[in-house]
Amino acid sequence: MSVQDQKKHLLQIFPDYGLNIVRGAGSKLWDNSGKEYIDCSSGWGVSNIGHSNPSLSLAIFTQAQELITCPGVFENPRREELASLLVDLAPDGLNQVFFTNSGTESVEAALKFAIASTGRKKVVSMMRGFHGRSIGSLGVTHKKKYRNLFEHLLSPDVQFVPFNNSQKLSDIVTEETAAVILELVQGEGGVHIADQRFVELARELCDKTGAILIFDEVQTGFGRTGRIFATDHFGVSPDILCLAKALGEGFPVGALLLSDKLDSLPKGIHGTTFGGNPLAMAAGIANLRYLIDMNIVEEVPEKGHFLMESLERVLSTDHRFRLVRGLGLMIAIEFKGRVQRLAELLIENGIIVIPTGRNTIRLLPPLIITFDEIRRVIKVFEYLSNDNTW
Ligand SMILES: *Cc1c(COP(=O)(O)O)cnc(C)c1O
Repeated sequence: MSVQDQKKHLLQIFPDYGLNIVRGAGSKLWDNSGKEYIDCSSGWGVSNIGHSNPSLSLAIFTQAQELITCPGVFENPRREELASLLVDLAPDGLNQVFFTNSGTESVEAALKFAIASTGRKKVVSMMRGFHGRSIGSLGVTHKKKYRNLFEHLLSPDVQFVPFNNSQKLSDIVTEETAAVILELVQGEGGVHIADQRFVELARELCDKTGAILIFDEVQTGFGRTGRIFATDHFGVSPDILCLAKALGEGFPVGALLLSDKLDSLPKGIHGTTFGGNPLAMAAGIANLRYLIDMNIVEEVPEKGHFLMESLERVLSTDHRFRLVRGLGLMIAIEFKGRVQRLAELLIENGIIVIPTGRNTIRLLPPLIITFDEIRRVIKVFEYLSNDNTW
């Protein structure tokens, strides 16, 4: 089927990359004409252990023959297994797990649990923060473009503070605050890293006022930043950790890890039909075992440094270039002007990237990307820095 044929029936609501992708393996994707790409988007921060990782495919296949669905009212060994793997990886004090099917659902559940456990209404979120697009999670997402048409459905009890502004955070968190939610590295907002002091302060303020601290690690989780979780860089534990994207590597799996502050929620106040189904659990288990057994995260800091330093080196003489920033393999390249055309040229040259805002290119390559593949990415950037058509 051609791209044109597919377009007949699909809602045209995504920006159009003009690509028809049919296959993936490791860091690579192929389109329907057989052209190869290095996927520096990981399918939007999902394929951390690489596309169609064989151990994941096998686990999904094997589980599909055993049991696919099983609601949360029953116990299931796969669910127990993934929950205990997550608890073992997580920072101290997060001993309970609730499974969802996506990032936005993890955030929705976190907000509901925080409100239910505190009996309070107000939620503090960050400017430039992104937490999803369903009504509750959109309510804590900052960007006007996503909110405008739906503002009337979004909670007036959400207050936004400038990210990393300690004074404003101290002023706004009170005994009426149910939750403070933040990303430790803002992803969609353009890869902005939280200050150590800001994160510590958020913890202190929540302890002082009894508010629930929620870290949204939907994008930063599972090695993306060079540690299993971004909170490992900060040494600060939240009360709720929201996860999704790279937990199922494309199989829809999300999770919340919760501290015992949230252990007496009224039964039935939340639920899910698909969340925690054995097939999703099998995908999550196979992924985490691979991530741990193969020591995937160990090389991430070095790969990230190499990629960032090389980008700086080849772009520094380009007057259109502003800066590179990032943590691990979560990287943003900021330019002085628009990057739309550059992103298109990168794709034409076999490198898939995510443009963010007008002047930023985001790179989230699979963590298993090789140094040779990184060199290929750099070569294309170097080549395009000599191209003045963008
Ligand atoms: C992608 C993302 C979400 C939303 O996840 P979906 O699975 O698309 O619903 C929420 N929070 C953060 C930080 C994200 O990056």
